Amino acid sequence: MNHEHDLRKTLITRRTELEERVRRIDTQLNHREEPPAADFAEQASEQENLEVLRALESEGRSELALVEAALARLDAGEHGRCQHCGGEIAPARLSALPWTDSCIACAR
Ligand SMILES: [Zn+2]
Repeated sequence: MNHEHDLRKTLITRRTELEERVRRIDTQLNHREEPPAADFAEQASEQENLEVLRALESEGRSELALVEAALARLDAGEHGRCQHCGGEIAPARLSALPWTDSCIACAR
């Protein structure tokens, strides 16, 4: 089906983007070259940056998990079915959020 093909392409593109983002953040988190800042204010702001990076990383990872799950559902022929009530997810919602696993009623 053409629609499923497009959907798969969208999901795979998104997965690649997310994998790259998470990898970039990992690199920033794990291979920081600058020595620790000397003064307290700088240390504090470095700490904040790290927290922002960690938050972005975990956000990226959870979105990645959603995208992977959507691809698995697509393979199983279950994509577009709400995982909570078993109802059909509206096509407009799916094209806006291809990785969603719930219909609009269950998402609320
Ligand atoms: Zn539902």
